[in-house]
Amino acid sequence: MRTRLKSFLFNKYRLISILTVVLVFSFTFTSLVSYNVTRTSIDSDAKTKILPLISDNIYSEIQKELLQPIYNSSIMANDEFLVEWVLAGEQETEEIVRYLQRIKERYGYFSAFYISARTNNYYYYEGILKQIRPEDEHDIWYYDFVRSGRHYDLDVDNDEATSGTLTIFINHRLEDNQGNFLGVTGVGLKMSEVGETLESYRKRFGHLIYLIDSEGLIQIHPDQDLVENTNIRELEGLQDIGDNILRNDDVTHYYEFRTKNGEQTLSARYLPDLDWYLIVEQDQTQALEAARLGLFGNIGIGVIVTILVIGLVVIVVNLYISKLEETANRDELTGLYNRRKMDEILSREIAFSKRYGEPLSLMMMDIDYFKSVNDSYGHHAGDHYLVELAKVLREEVRLVDYVGRWGGEEFIILLPKTNVEQAKGLAERLRYAVEVMQIESGRGLISRTVSIGIASAQSGKMDVDEIIRHADEAMYRAKQESGNCVVVW
Ligand code: GH3
Ligand code: MG
Ligand code: MG
Repeated sequence: MRTRLKSFLFNKYRLISILTVVLVFSFTFTSLVSYNVTRTSIDSDAKTKILPLISDNIYSEIQKELLQPIYNSSIMANDEFLVEWVLAGEQETEEIVRYLQRIKERYGYFSAFYISARTNNYYYYEGILKQIRPEDEHDIWYYDFVRSGRHYDLDVDNDEATSGTLTIFINHRLEDNQGNFLGVTGVGLKMSEVGETLESYRKRFGHLIYLIDSEGLIQIHPDQDLVENTNIRELEGLQDIGDNILRNDDVTHYYEFRTKNGEQTLSARYLPDLDWYLIVEQDQTQALEAARLGLFGNIGIGVIVTILVIGLVVIVVNLYISKLEETANRDELTGLYNRRKMDEILSREIAFSKRYGEPLSLMMMDIDYFKSVNDSYGHHAGDHYLVELAKVLREEVRLVDYVGRWGGEEFIILLPKTNVEQAKGLAERLRYAVEVMQIESGRGLISRTVSIGIASAQSGKMDVDEIIRHADEAMYRAKQESGNCVVVW
């Protein structure tokens, strides 16, 4: 039994190790698989769904922000009032100022202006700002635009009327009915407002959105220091891609590049109305952050579940082992300790009594004429009587005493720290309790007596076999003295 228990204990640790390995392996495996699935889908989503969607969204945002002013500046360029006022010799400055003021306020523009080719006057919503001159570097844009022959263009510049606010100007040619050039009119948008729209995209979705002109020069960017200042080829990681981006076709192109922050995906789209490119960059590391958080979450759950399962298994296995030990130590019929366990307890208690110099007593008890119980009332009734007797014994002895079934109708009671006199007193009590015990059998009351032999070891000067033999001999003497009595060896 002990070796079986030992091998089971050994198996218990083996079982727990195997279970731990299986759980840890499966959790790690599924977490990694799901992380990889998320990773790949984020990767392909970036190219097939997210970037095109963002690009479309931004494009319509840009249309709202930029195409409307382009449209309005073309309305201004075709306005009868403006053309006639110019042709009439730019008489009343107040009239054009009121006109420009109305345009500015109705559409919420930052500025509205007209520059006359005849007088070189720069009219804006508050009056005449200045006279433009080819030598003034602020006015170079005007001469460039006139020379380009284009109907309109977009120009990012500092607004002189508001001490240098970065502004997107939409410039439009003004002509008379014969197509003679009269000047340039248009509106201005505050750069910071467009930049804020892009910045809000960056904050909400983690996308960097900016616009570059056909040369690659940054025109609109959440970081205003780069505007009109930095070429896309100078940006980190884009030295090689820069040339490819400026391809001037109407397909959206995707590129991958690396910065010190990690993998980036870039989409570039040519906007023919503006002759600019819309660039959307997505930081893959940021997008993967969610997947990584998911991975850590999964592993965390795995660790908790593994600990819970292993804990549960340990509890169940320990319970099972103690149950098993308990059954291995007990007599099936009466629930008392069996002979094997009593042997073990006896050896231990004798060792204690030797070690501490304490007395110890042993009682051997045999039922008188028990065979006739079986004969008269049946074997079942005999069993029942044994069970009831065991109960009485357990009730009568002290908590520290051990009661065991030694053989068929023989019981053994071990009394630690008990001398002969005390043992005799207890034995008398037990003998009497059995004598008065009556058990209903169905065929009448069963009542028996017991013979008890006592052996004591003063200071434990006795070994296990000896004390048992003495108690046994004393019990036989009690039998010989007609039973139902107690004899001390
Ligand atoms: P005595 O001890 O007074 O000399 O007579 P006895 O009849 O008690 O002694 P004996 O040793 O001759 O008989 C013991 C009987 O106990 C024999 C057997 O039928 C009965 N017995 C032993 N174990 C059990 C048991 O588990 N159940 C039942 N019902 N009877 C048992
Ligand atoms: Mg007997
Ligand atoms: Mg017997």
